[in-house]
Amino acid sequence: MRAAGWGGRGMTHTTQKDWPLERGRPRTEAPPKAPPRHTTIEPALLEALAECGVTGLTVHADGVIHRFDASDKKRGNRCGWYVCPSLDVAVFGFWHTGEQHTVITGGRVDPTTTLETRLAYQRAKEQREAEQRQQWTRTAEQARRWWAAAESADPHHPYLLKKRLAPHGLRQRGDMLLVPLFLGGELVNLQRILPDGSKRFMAGGRIRGAASLLGRIAGADTVYLCEGWATAATLHEAVGQPVVAAMNCGNLLPMARSLRSRLPASVAIIVAADNDRYKSGNAGLTKGREAALAIGARIVWPEFPCAECACSDFNDRQCCALGEVVA
Ligand SMILES: [Zn+2]
Repeated sequence: MRAAGWGGRGMTHTTQKDWPLERGRPRTEAPPKAPPRHTTIEPALLEALAECGVTGLTVHADGVIHRFDASDKKRGNRCGWYVCPSLDVAVFGFWHTGEQHTVITGGRVDPTTTLETRLAYQRAKEQREAEQRQQWTRTAEQARRWWAAAESADPHHPYLLKKRLAPHGLRQRGDMLLVPLFLGGELVNLQRILPDGSKRFMAGGRIRGAASLLGRIAGADTVYLCEGWATAATLHEAVGQPVVAAMNCGNLLPMARSLRSRLPASVAIIVAADNDRYKSGNAGLTKGREAALAIGARIVWPEFPCAECACSDFNDRQCCALGEVVA
């Protein structure tokens, strides 16, 4: 009976990152193979949720979009959602996986169900995007307050000493260094660097598409794009050109595209990738190449003459060469 499990409960499922309304019918709307065991939607939904590791919910077939925690993420993640557009249909999914399921009591997925499912998904998506925008706004406001109230970074902050870098306009709140992230000219987030070098963004703030800039882009003929702030500062000190720090390798591609579209064609962009030589897949170099390729930019990355150290970026290489042990 397990093989016919989905159908037996009158459940169909799609697993797509983004399930667009305009692309028509969902791909997997196979009719249930056996009569459903439930006559009302609530127990059918609860059973389907339990299959996905979600238990202990009280569900409401009230047409309202409800959110719940996915079992594979931190408490309070609210990555799960469900809605019962009618008393016979429930739709639920998870934002972090793109997974989506339809549960029915009637035993047949008819065109009405399909339409209800699509509209339910669309509504849930719009609501989530609105929430996301509100959260971004709240975090950006907090970031601006912190930034305005912060002092200039102490050049003797342990992180700056360890990285052998000047503060380059960073600010400090208590013992935390603040790295400003801008998007469209507005401060949207702060990366906080603690004295031990651990880094945290502000909760719920924008990262994708946002970046920190060292130097001035206006009038430059070359702009470098890299991951971390320390790498950016090292490059900026070394070459004197503006450097954009995308903060992580996943943000290199969006930033590369955004820079290319905003800068005149006469301005060269050079991707300065990390060389995560010890990590399988070398994310730094792989993502760096992807970003460079997408916009036809040159790419440079550090090679390490040193051994038995953890060096992976341009700042590591410089510190290592100066006798600092990079662990
Ligand atoms: Zn080294």
